[in-house]
Amino acid sequence: MRTSDWLAARVADAVPDTAHGRRLTLAVPGWPGNAPGQHLDIRLTAPDGYQAERSYSIASSGPGESVEIAVDEIPEGEVSPYLVRVAEPGDALEVKGPLGAYFVWDPADPSPVQLIAGGSGIVPLLAMARARAAMSAGAPFRLLYSVRTAADALYRDEVERLGAAGLDVTWAYTRQAPTGWPGRVGRLDAERIAQATWMPAQHPLTFICGPTSFVEAAADAMVAAGHDAARVKTERFGGS
Ligand SMILES: Cc1cc2nc3c(=O)[nH]c(=O)nc-3n(C[C@H](O)[C@H](O)[C@H](O)COP(=O)(O)OP(=O)(O)OC[C@H]3O[C@@H](n4cnc5c(N)ncnc54)[C@H](O)[C@@H]3O)c2cc1C
Repeated sequence: MRTSDWLAARVADAVPDTAHGRRLTLAVPGWPGNAPGQHLDIRLTAPDGYQAERSYSIASSGPGESVEIAVDEIPEGEVSPYLVRVAEPGDALEVKGPLGAYFVWDPADPSPVQLIAGGSGIVPLLAMARARAAMSAGAPFRLLYSVRTAADALYRDEVERLGAAGLDVTWAYTRQAPTGWPGRVGRLDAERIAQATWMPAQHPLTFICGPTSFVEAAADAMVAAGHDAARVKTERFGGS
């Protein structure tokens, strides 16, 4: 099996996670397994033969023929509304992957890890945090997770649980914070990013994922703060 081949897959499970986001488990016979941070391509084919392809990060990692993704609906989008609102267990689609060898965390690397997620950019970073949580010892992890409101956060409950189990989590809210939230509301700026992340002297490996403008602003802030650009890895989901 080559990762350039399309594999027949079925939706095995579909669970709403937010008002506009859903977790999907795909059964993919022949899936070769994947590393934390990788993504796959999905191809949908309409009855008239029209096809659409999009990329989705994988929230799961390791061996096995079951793959978890999470999709945030883009209003007016072509594929995401189908995956969030229409697809049901049993539905057929095709997947290609795993893809992406660069945006991958190696559990053998002892470097501190800084995760910075904007919205659905949490998905590949959650795969890394899950992989780290499954180890008895390993690199120290921090997560800075920016969302519009708490209700918009994909994997909110799991991130809270990982936080309670030792993951250093900082939430950032761009539109509205929970009642009593002591921090500032609004887009992350360089100062807040610096406060919530490892110092450059700690030589972290940083993974930033989300909408393009979020990723570029966060990566620029990390490099301007003195982080080695070669250790700031980015994955852009598109949009502005
Ligand atoms: C490597 C990679 C991994 C990805 N992983 C995920 C994931 O885990 N979960 C997830 O929900 N999405 C993910 N995406 C985004 C996904 O591939 C689609 O772009 C997204 O679902 C929108 O597709 P659509 O067909 O609904 O919208 P389209 O019909 O393609 O676009 C509709 C409109 O929305 C804009 N748009 C497209 N994508 C975005 C976006 N991400 N944010 C804001 N506006 C956008 C377009 O410019 C266009 O104007 C990933 C993208 C990449 C490249």
